Amino acid sequence: MFFKDIPGKSTEKKYLIATVQEDKLAHAQLFLGRSGTGQLALALAFTSYLMCKNRSDQDSCGSCTACLKTHKYIHPDVHFSFPVVKLDGKQRKDVTSNDFLPQWRKSVAANPYLDMNTWLNSLSVDNGQANINVKECVEIVKKLSLKTFEAEHKILIVWMPEYFKNEGNRLLKLIEEPPENTIIILAAEKQEQILNTILSRVQLLKIAPFSDQEISDYLSETLKVVPEEIDQITGLASGDLNAAIHLANQDNANYSDALFQWLRIAYKMEPVELGQWVTEISRWGRENQKNFLEYGLHFFREYLFSLITGKDNIRLSKEEKETASKMTKLLDVSKTENIISVLNDCIGAVERNANPKILFLADSMTIGRIMRNAKVDRNIYQV
Ligand SMILES: [Zn+2]
Repeated sequence: MFFKDIPGKSTEKKYLIATVQEDKLAHAQLFLGRSGTGQLALALAFTSYLMCKNRSDQDSCGSCTACLKTHKYIHPDVHFSFPVVKLDGKQRKDVTSNDFLPQWRKSVAANPYLDMNTWLNSLSVDNGQANINVKECVEIVKKLSLKTFEAEHKILIVWMPEYFKNEGNRLLKLIEEPPENTIIILAAEKQEQILNTILSRVQLLKIAPFSDQEISDYLSETLKVVPEEIDQITGLASGDLNAAIHLANQDNANYSDALFQWLRIAYKMEPVELGQWVTEISRWGRENQKNFLEYGLHFFREYLFSLITGKDNIRLSKEEKETASKMTKLLDVSKTENIISVLNDCIGAVERNANPKILFLADSMTIGRIMRNAKVDRNIYQV
């Protein structure tokens, strides 16, 4: 990975480049930022830079013998550890990152800003059982005790050290005093979930979320998203580049039209039209339904903020703001809060695999009632 492929982050890049040029490498570092802020991407770019035999002041060369391997994540002196799940034919306690390296390389090459959901989806696993187990820790100690194969340094990148649990304590000595020329980089999202014993032994690099401008530039320049979708995706992503990439890859990225159509149909409550809409959204698939509902939440939260504060510096596109301003006649603060609550519950139900036809029919009726100001007993419609 090149530094130049990561949007923005000039402070972080300058700092990392300087540590290599001035030979002030910290042996155990924690790259910390919320989901989709590029901590893994920076770790990968830094690794390529450090290993490169022909680096410039700004980036790795991309073509030396080291770059040909680090850019494909196959350098023998660069090790990866990350949460994994059970593998068919093996006991869970025997499964380590090594078993998943081909999928890992593929996923990271496709999206170095990935989060746990993206990773688990790529393994076709829903959730739950991912962890970093004892055997992984034993393997780490073993790998780092080896001599380097061809480079001056060896590097271990641990993605999501939050998943270490207490097994991570086996690595304390290693983190405190890594073997010679060894660099350990932890790429994490949630500081509070990392073992304190680890936190106190690493040098922290905090990474800020991407700005809206960086996200929209990435959407237009790297992902070639059509201009009319960029504002909506940027607003919805809220600085999370992984979310922006997912939204850009969705077929139905134009959720605002779909949302306003839903509200119109729910308000009119015309049975044939409602039935057709429910059938249509049932076919979307869970991921797409969830993104649509997340969009709805985003829209109504911004709408609510502008209702309460009277300000219009909200993260909505021009068209969305126009629609929002028309809605003020119909939806006051309390109705909007009710709709937000329905959407929140609906996301939970989609995640729990509820029957989409029943779910969206019931929630359409509830939202219709809220909009028409009827008294709503939401419990009737819970599925
Ligand atoms: Zn190079």
